[in-house]
Amino acid sequence: MATYVVLLGPPGAGKGSQAKRIVKETAIPHVSTGDLLRAMKDQDTPLARRVQAIMAEGGLVDDDTTMAILRERLMEPDSCDRGAILDGVPRTLAQAETLDKMLAEEFSAAVGGVFLFSISEDEAVRRISGRRVNPDTGRVYHVEFDPPKVEGIDDETGTSLIQREDDKPAVVRERYQLYLEKTAPLIDFYRAAGKLHEIDANRPIDEITPDLVDAIKALQRTSG
Ligand code: AMP
Repeated sequence: MATYVVLLGPPGAGKGSQAKRIVKETAIPHVSTGDLLRAMKDQDTPLARRVQAIMAEGGLVDDDTTMAILRERLMEPDSCDRGAILDGVPRTLAQAETLDKMLAEEFSAAVGGVFLFSISEDEAVRRISGRRVNPDTGRVYHVEFDPPKVEGIDDETGTSLIQREDDKPAVVRERYQLYLEKTAPLIDFYRAAGKLHEIDANRPIDEITPDLVDAIKALQRTSG
């Protein structure tokens, strides 16, 4: 049976980094709406241009567009078989409600568990401002925690790394405020549903992974 897990928390809390590690251990695909929306940059349509502009400012893409893109991704065979580690979605109460309905009606499934990663705004800014990415492959480095061998250059492709527009400190602060306003209400929503697990995201990445993997494997056993 498929297992659906939500990673909830502000930008910079380490959701994406943990998701990539969890995939290796559990074989559940990592589904990031940020990655799916960023991939639209190659499309030259009014919708894609609007999405790029919203993302560059650190705003939220509208719920309908986001959930339609998510739905398409969840329809792919790997996710139908195994489920998804949802990273960056849901981000509003409306998205959470749509997700519940979509999983129940179209996938005969439900969110199995929600892991809340908490960190302060200053720590989020500190972590994100060191992030560098390969704009073509999406590979992520960090100047302090996971630097490339040569500064500013991808180890694999030899091409230049960039800082995402929305990783600049002023934009990160906007994104953090938006998280508090729009996404933090999901904490109570999932707590009330008895699905919330709290993670102290200030701990080093390596310490967090085994706890998460154990908890998700336990969910896989109950959903399997
Ligand atoms: P992320 O990679 O999760 O930090 O997302 C990067 C950007 O993509 C966000 O700042 C939003 O502009 C957009 N985005 C990603 N996921 C969502 C979502 N679930 N709802 C609305 N906008 C989103």
